[in-house]
Amino acid sequence: MIPIAEAIGIVLRQTSGTGVDSVSLVDALGRILAEDIIADTDLPPFDRAQMDGYAVRAADVADIPAQLRIAGESAAGAGWHQEMKAGEAVRIMTGAPVPEGADAVQQVELTREEDGDGYVEILESVEIGRSIVKRAAEIKAGETVLRAGEDINAAMIATLASFGYAQVKVGRRPRVAVMATGSELVDVDQKPGPDQIRDSNNYTIAAYAALSGATVQRLPLAGDDPNELKRQIAAAAERSDVLITSGGVSMGVYDFTKAALKELGAEIFFERVALRPGKPTVFAKLGDTLVFGLPGNPVSVAVTFNLFARTALRVMQGARQPGLIEETAILGRSVKGSIDRESYLPAILRTDRRGILIAEPLKWGGSSDFVAFARATALIDVPAGEHEIKARALVKILRLPGSAPKEQDIYSNGAS
Ligand code: AMP
Ligand code: MG
Repeated sequence: MIPIAEAIGIVLRQTSGTGVDSVSLVDALGRILAEDIIADTDLPPFDRAQMDGYAVRAADVADIPAQLRIAGESAAGAGWHQEMKAGEAVRIMTGAPVPEGADAVQQVELTREEDGDGYVEILESVEIGRSIVKRAAEIKAGETVLRAGEDINAAMIATLASFGYAQVKVGRRPRVAVMATGSELVDVDQKPGPDQIRDSNNYTIAAYAALSGATVQRLPLAGDDPNELKRQIAAAAERSDVLITSGGVSMGVYDFTKAALKELGAEIFFERVALRPGKPTVFAKLGDTLVFGLPGNPVSVAVTFNLFARTALRVMQGARQPGLIEETAILGRSVKGSIDRESYLPAILRTDRRGILIAEPLKWGGSSDFVAFARATALIDVPAGEHEIKARALVKILRLPGSAPKEQDIYSNGAS
């Protein structure tokens, strides 16, 4: 049995990148950036008005009200490219270039323009620089604005668009095959017979794998039969970067997954982790394919996938932060630890009236209780050897991945 941190270290060392894809900007959301993003222009590219109003010389409006002759108009996309002289003003719109000679913009609300006489009255003084964003004040051409390894979120799209990244280099999606094992399993569209249950693990793993950026192929359900397992595992390894199985890794008479891997010549890196839930997790390599043999219980699957397989999938895509997001929270209710294993207990996060993060441990019936787990948004880390952590103590929590945009074109042109 090895500690979780050691197991994650092994996963990191055995995982390498799956290469780079070039995708169009509209497909970049949720992918992992595989290139540094460089500004190809200054931002703003010219001295830019931040208000609708009048470009003026601050010195001309030191004594108010001040009458200025309107020399022209500067609109967004159609600037006024002459020199503004003393005693003059230029009508200007938000986003338009500030003409040479002007050193401030007075907002329109603090001016009065008499219709048609060609003059404007400025009612309040302004200091030099008011309502002007100087060229390159935000970004200088050549600056690195986003770095390889970052998760592309919606807030970054404007940056990619503004610097001309119609195509974006991103980590290639790893190909994941998922295979549930167990002679008791039937698929979701079947009515379980006596002694049978519906498979949920394939769907859980597929969902989390998709959230991790992978493409997923669900394999047929595999019974507890060593030869069938060997055949399916070998076939799956041929055409996937990562194979994720569930079930068949405990100490039962019909737990054949490990034996099948060994007989196929897989290199096993670990097969027992000091983790609760999820002790019998297996990590192996068969050819170039990484294999995660997750336990059968559905909550163990969710925990072990997110600690180990998700990390590998994100490393393959070049993520700089492959692990789950760690935070500190106040424990809502006391929890029991385990003598020899680190526990990751499902929890609901909420904030109290002061805005402080509280982790409420789920009331759950253990690693088979997927219905209780459906409410979980985080895992509470209880170090090995902690007999009990009392309510109100500070605990480390890991955020569980949430929902992501659907795999569909988010830009509808209404044609279909
Ligand atoms: P195992 O690790 O194969 O002994 O399975 C442990 C428990 O998880 C058993 O109660 C199984 O019935 C259950 N289980 C195994 N695989 C799945 C699956 N794909 N979906 C739902 N439950 C499963
Ligand atoms: Mg089983």
